[in-house]
Amino acid sequence: MDFDVIIVGGGIAGASLGAALAGRRRTLIIEAEEQCGYHTTGRSAAFWLAHYGGPEVIPLTLASGPMLERGWPAGERSWLRRRGCITLARDTMDLREALAANSPEAPVTEIKRPELERRIPGLREGWNFGLDDPSCADIDVAGLHQACLAQFRRSGGQILCSTPLDSARRSGDHWVVEAGSDQLRTKVIVNAAGAWADDVARRCGVPPLGIKPLRRTVVQLRIGRSGLRDLPLINDALERFYFKGESDNRVWVSPHDETASDPCDAGADELDVATAIDRFESVVDWPVEAVERSWAGLRSFAPDRLPVLGFDSNAGFFWCAGQGGFGIQTSGAAASLCSALLLGESPALDARPFSPLRFASQEK
Ligand SMILES: Cc1cc2nc3c(=O)[nH]c(=O)nc-3n(C[C@H](O)[C@H](O)[C@H](O)COP(=O)(O)OP(=O)(O)OC[C@H]3O[C@@H](n4cnc5c(N)ncnc54)[C@H](O)[C@@H]3O)c2cc1C
Repeated sequence: MDFDVIIVGGGIAGASLGAALAGRRRTLIIEAEEQCGYHTTGRSAAFWLAHYGGPEVIPLTLASGPMLERGWPAGERSWLRRRGCITLARDTMDLREALAANSPEAPVTEIKRPELERRIPGLREGWNFGLDDPSCADIDVAGLHQACLAQFRRSGGQILCSTPLDSARRSGDHWVVEAGSDQLRTKVIVNAAGAWADDVARRCGVPPLGIKPLRRTVVQLRIGRSGLRDLPLINDALERFYFKGESDNRVWVSPHDETASDPCDAGADELDVATAIDRFESVVDWPVEAVERSWAGLRSFAPDRLPVLGFDSNAGFFWCAGQGGFGIQTSGAAASLCSALLLGESPALDARPFSPLRFASQEK
């Protein structure tokens, strides 16, 4: 039970990093739950949106796009299915921020009411302005996540589920890790514990960085109309909702909630479900027939809402956390960047914006 790297957490962050490191280091993933992907990774809305997350995140998303398109890491099939996105506004001023984020790699164009009516049947009065982003795609999250775990295993990586990291202490040039009933040794601990990232740091005697879990809800509605599956993702310029067709007569709707939470097995709150339906009904006249299911997951943010990727100032402790609402769409490039840093190679993208050392003053 002697490893070069132990990755704590088997969600998309840990699994994709495992795949990127595959075969280069003796690596173990430990996952507290019976199954990898039980928490945030298994609860996402599963889209790839070029401009989401702000200017520092865009390079990670854009670099991951072609990787996901080609079916990274093993190339079996593409994980993306093009859908397109329309960001809606009642007032053209509301689109200003979205337009400012425009990038040449994934350009968006302004569209007006007649085009909006053509693209979104049943659109209610008042939604007169829109931005069209044809590059937006659905991600096959389960396919991607499983392919990463499979690639990791194929190249000799080991996975222990139902094995929570309880504590770890530094002994010379390695860590002694207590995890479930196992005692493990490793040179490096990677903290890919999602909502528990600060908790895992504390268990390793490393100061937490203030990574906060925020709850986000999704509701699946059955609709009394068909032809919804291939409509674009509909996004609000003022970030109060988004929804997309999930099948011919089903939609996934989110009220864009961000409720502070302790790390936990998150569930949907009734009020958030009601808010989602109310906002949805203010956009289109599609009859809601039933709430088929609802769920929530925890999106984790560092104080500056950027991911935290890199070595801590405490020896042998590496952060791969704070992926907020973009952890799936950035996973390929983030994993490559982390793997380069862990292997002492120079990453293809600038790693400085993501370094945990940017919080150095807070750590004291
Ligand atoms: C509703 C919703 C919609 C979203 N939509 C999108 C989207 O459209 N596109 C996108 O890119 N992203 C989206 N996201 C964000 C994305 O899901 C996350 O960024 C991503 O899943 C984070 O992955 P993770 O591996 O860091 O976390 P997780 O999947 O939560 O994995 C962390 C793992 O660490 C384990 N763990 C914790 N503590 C320990 C311990 N002590 N020992 C061992 N294991 C431990 C946990 O059990 C967990 O399995 C969405 C999120 C939500 C909630």
